[in-house]
Amino acid sequence: MSRELSHEIDELIQVFKAEVEQVQSQQQHRGLKEKYFSRRKGICPLLMQRLRDIPPKEKAEAGRLINRFKQMVEQSLDEVFTRLEPDRRKPGIDWTLPPVSHAPGAPHLIERTRTELEDIFIQMGYEVAEGPEMESEYNNFTALNIPAHHPARDEQDTFFIQDIDDMVLRTHTSPVQIRYMKSKQPPFKAIFPGKVFRKDEPDATHTPVFHQIEGLLVDREINFSHLRGILEAFIRAFFGEDIKTRFRPGYFPFTEPSAEIDISCFLCFGQDAECRICKGTGWLEILGSGMVHPGVLMNCGIDPDLFSGFAFGMGVDRIALLRHGVPDLRMFFENDLRFLRQFR
Ligand SMILES: [Zn+2]
Repeated sequence: MSRELSHEIDELIQVFKAEVEQVQSQQQHRGLKEKYFSRRKGICPLLMQRLRDIPPKEKAEAGRLINRFKQMVEQSLDEVFTRLEPDRRKPGIDWTLPPVSHAPGAPHLIERTRTELEDIFIQMGYEVAEGPEMESEYNNFTALNIPAHHPARDEQDTFFIQDIDDMVLRTHTSPVQIRYMKSKQPPFKAIFPGKVFRKDEPDATHTPVFHQIEGLLVDREINFSHLRGILEAFIRAFFGEDIKTRFRPGYFPFTEPSAEIDISCFLCFGQDAECRICKGTGWLEILGSGMVHPGVLMNCGIDPDLFSGFAFGMGVDRIALLRHGVPDLRMFFENDLRFLRQFR
C-alpha cells in the first residue's frame, strides 16, 4: 500500500512541478492552491482522507510521505506568490496615501453552521454528497414512497417547473440519497447538505428556501440501536455533553419505523416556564430519523433482505436559529449587514 502511495506521490510531484512553473498571475496561483488544498476536493485533503484505509503498520510511513508532499506544495506556492507580488518601488504609486479600508469578509452564519455539522460527520467517516436543486418528481417523491395522491405533492406546497413535465425544485435533500444509493453498493455512509424549496409564505419560522442536512448509513444488520448511537454521539458533539435526548415515534413515508428526536433545552434546561426557545416545555425538536423503508432500498436496487440502514435529516437554519437565539428566520435571508456582522 505504502509503495503504491509513494509511487503515486512521485507522480503527483512531477505534475505539480510542471503546473507551478506555468503560474504567471495571482489568479492562476489561486486556482492551483484551490486544486491542492480546497477543503472537500483538494488533492492534499483527499490524500489525508485515504490514511483511514491504510493498515496501522503502514500508517506512520504513509502519513510522513503525504505530509512531506503537502509541505513541498505549500512552500513552492508561497515562493511563487512572493515572486508575483507587485514591486512596491515602482514609480507612479503614492505610498503616503492612507490605505483603502477592506473590511474582511466572513462566512454567513448558515454556511458556518452547515460546515460545523458536516465536520462532525466527516470525522465519523461519512462522505459528503451533493445533487441538483431541480429534481425529477420520481427522485423527489415516487422513489421515496410518496405516492401521487400525497398532499406533499400538492401545488400549494411544491414549486413545479413551468413547461417542464415532472420536474420540481426539490422539497428535501432526500432525492440526493436516492441518486447516491442507485450509484453505489453498500456498505456506505454519507451526508447530503443543500438548499431545499417549499411554497411557504415567509414568516418568522418559514421561508420558501431553506437548508437541510440529511444522512444515510446502509450495511448488513443495521438496526435502530445503531441509529440511536450515532445520533446521540452527534448531538453530544454539537450541542454539548450534558444534553439529553428524547426519541418520539414519528411518521415519514420513506422510513419505518420512524422517530422524531428532541434534545433537552440548552438555554433553560427545562427550568424556565417562559423560556424563549423551548416555550417552557424543556425540549426542542431537532431531527427526523428512521430505518430506511425496504421499498425505498428496492427502488434503488438494494436487496432489503441483505442490507438495512438508517436515515436522518435536520434543518440547518432551524439549528442556527435556536443556537444563536435569532428571533426570525427571515433575518438569515435579508442580508442586513448589521445582523450578519454579529456572527463574524
Ligand atoms: Zn428552554
